[in-house]
Amino acid sequence: MVSKRERWSVDIPAGLEQWVARRLVSAHQRILNALVLGHVLNATMLFLVFIDDTANVLIPAATAAIFAACGHRYWLGQQFRKQKASVDPQRMIRALEYNSLFMAAVVGSTIFFFMPRASPMQEVFLSIVGTTLIAAAGYTMRTLPRAALSYIALISIGMIGGLMMTGRIEAIAACVLLGASALLLARMAITANKLFVVRILREHEANSSADTVRMLLNDYEDHGSDWLFELDRNSDMVNVSQRFADAVGQKPEELNGRPFALLFSAGRERDTLAGHLSGRRAFRGLTAQLEGGNPAEPRWWSLSGRPSNGGPTARVLYRGVVSDVSAEKHAEARVRHMAHYDSLTELPNRMMFTQALHRTVADRSAKSRLAVLLIDFDKFKAVNDMYGHPIGDAFLQVAAKRLSTTLMNSNLGGEGRLIARLGGDEFAILMSGEDAIDHCVRLAETLVETMAVTLDVKGHPVESRISIGIALAPDHADGADILLQNADIALYAAKEAGRGRWEMFTPGMDEAIHKRHAIARDLRSAITNGELRLYLQPLVNVESGQKTGFEALVRWEHPERGLVMPNDFIPVAEETGLIVPMGEWVIRTAISQAASWAEPYAIAINLSPIQLRSPNLIPVVVRALADTGIDPGRIEFEITESVLMHDCEANIQILNRLHALGLKIALDDFGTGYASLNYLLTFPFDKIKIDRSFITELETREDCRAIVGAVVGLANRLGMCTLAEGVEQEAQLTKLREQGCEMVQGWLFGKAMPAEFYGLGAQDEVAKAA
Ligand code: C2E
Ligand code: CA
Ligand code: CA
Repeated sequence: MVSKRERWSVDIPAGLEQWVARRLVSAHQRILNALVLGHVLNATMLFLVFIDDTANVLIPAATAAIFAACGHRYWLGQQFRKQKASVDPQRMIRALEYNSLFMAAVVGSTIFFFMPRASPMQEVFLSIVGTTLIAAAGYTMRTLPRAALSYIALISIGMIGGLMMTGRIEAIAACVLLGASALLLARMAITANKLFVVRILREHEANSSADTVRMLLNDYEDHGSDWLFELDRNSDMVNVSQRFADAVGQKPEELNGRPFALLFSAGRERDTLAGHLSGRRAFRGLTAQLEGGNPAEPRWWSLSGRPSNGGPTARVLYRGVVSDVSAEKHAEARVRHMAHYDSLTELPNRMMFTQALHRTVADRSAKSRLAVLLIDFDKFKAVNDMYGHPIGDAFLQVAAKRLSTTLMNSNLGGEGRLIARLGGDEFAILMSGEDAIDHCVRLAETLVETMAVTLDVKGHPVESRISIGIALAPDHADGADILLQNADIALYAAKEAGRGRWEMFTPGMDEAIHKRHAIARDLRSAITNGELRLYLQPLVNVESGQKTGFEALVRWEHPERGLVMPNDFIPVAEETGLIVPMGEWVIRTAISQAASWAEPYAIAINLSPIQLRSPNLIPVVVRALADTGIDPGRIEFEITESVLMHDCEANIQILNRLHALGLKIALDDFGTGYASLNYLLTFPFDKIKIDRSFITELETREDCRAIVGAVVGLANRLGMCTLAEGVEQEAQLTKLREQGCEMVQGWLFGKAMPAEFYGLGAQDEVAKAA
């Protein structure tokens, strides 16, 4: 249903009245000057046509009134034009309506007054003026319907009244016609006005829905993590919001008019973006790196955009959204990094190394060689066992750093060199070039030397030493896998040859490896099959020249290989953990043997650091003491300095418990590891065994004599006995006697031999203990 009100006018939404009024005045203003001109013309004609009646004061008065109203109307128009924004449009409409009312009243009353007394020609003139004005008002003033209606009403009333006053019968017909036309015109004016208002309201709606979208998007911008951008036909930024500018780190006015693509770092992504923009293509999820900012934290944006269909005149030709995807990009990079790098040392990992190796092997030119160096830390397992894994990890970090710095400083190995951690304590270096052989040997030498140090690992001094295995392509292998395998064999050979050294692969080396594997395999059964033997080496008092005891040194009587020396299987036993049951066998056997001797000789038993960590150690010792009833004072455990370096507190506790049982503790191989006299103060040792290396050069080297002298002096003051190991010559003994050394051991007095050799004891006792 159409309400009465709607039939006459259009409902203007609240808040839009001013806007509609402004549009109405604006529309009227476009024809205002023509309208004023028309009225001036009419007024002038009226004056001229009725010039004879100048006696009648009404004519100049009406003309002047119309001129004045025209002037006022013209002034209103100018007023609106000049100060469009500040002028109140509704007041302007009222002023125009009053002006029209006044004008219509003047014209209408003039026609009414002159029609009855006009000549026929004057009558025609008045009729033309009246109908023209009515018709013109109906059309031209459709934006001011009340003004139009006042024209139509007042002028037609004036005409009808004037015609009726003539008293002629035809006037009635003219009046009916005029009245009907006036009604029709009025209706038309109202409809035209309605149509006009509806049209501008629609227009507004269309605009405002765009505004609403924008408002919503702004809102989204303010609260979301995304920003909008708009670009013009040159792909330059327009309407840059504060938030967008903040995200870029510049001011909106700096960004407006600048090419959008230049926000991003040069590269493939930026080229792709520029291509899409110039090709007016839509794009989605394109990532590009923002130019500038902190290089340590590059920022990435994801961009989506589409050309906007704004038509050829539109300013904005591209709209889109950007979102900051730096966090995702960084996470992605982290994952990629994790796949190729070792998290502990930050070095490339095995995967990256083997990929690079395969690539380098495939790309190798005819003349060039490539070398693989496999690096293994000697005794890393012991570090882990003795300190626990956190220190083991920290050790690897410190050691890896030292490795890569050495490599970097060496300038060896060409462009393609790469260092990686393959896992555990195993590292690898890949190098290539024509000088690869020379370079890898020099590098291996440097590495072995620089890595043989005591590293400070979280305050613990940890001994570091490496073995290196080298294999070359094409000399030792064509393919990457065989190359690695051969480097591994060379590494084993280096370990076999005593560790802390490097070996280049040679064919036939595999055998050594197999031997080592076989040892590990056979050692297990060696213990249970009774293949181990204890050999004894005498410990001699310097002054009396008498044997005071024996050191128990283990041998392995292998059914096929024959007698195997401890240096060949103790390291394997330590690596595999077999040292614990093996050591327990040594303890039981040595104690039970010693208990069976006629003489109360002392018995020295070697203890590996790993055995000290075994919870079984004390029970095994206690059991052996109880089983044999031996005087615990005859038993001496030999430990090395490394026991005091790692897990010192825990180890000293064990040593104290052994002391408390009445056993003696000797510090073995003194001077080899860290040669710190401080170790003598960490525990009240009963005996210090000065390492063979000092004794061998006792005669030739002054410093060796000095060290022995210092050790003997300090040990005496601390109430410790000193024993020199590896005494082979009389001269050495003389020097040791001069230095005040109390005890000696060495081939000069006897090699390590089976017990019977020294007339000691029944083998059946040994068998029983086994
Ligand atoms: P160590 O404890 O320093 O033992 C002394 C080593 O020096 C023995 O070698 C001995 O035969 C050798 N030796 C003794 N006098 C001389 C000499 O005048 N000149 C030379 N050149 N060498 C001499 P062996 O028996 O081969 O033992 C080697 C190492 O094996 C021992 O060094 C010890 O660390 C370890 N070991 C031996 N038996 C056992 C054991 O039962 N348990 C543990 N944990 N380790 C053992
Ligand atoms: Ca020893
Ligand atoms: Ca020793």
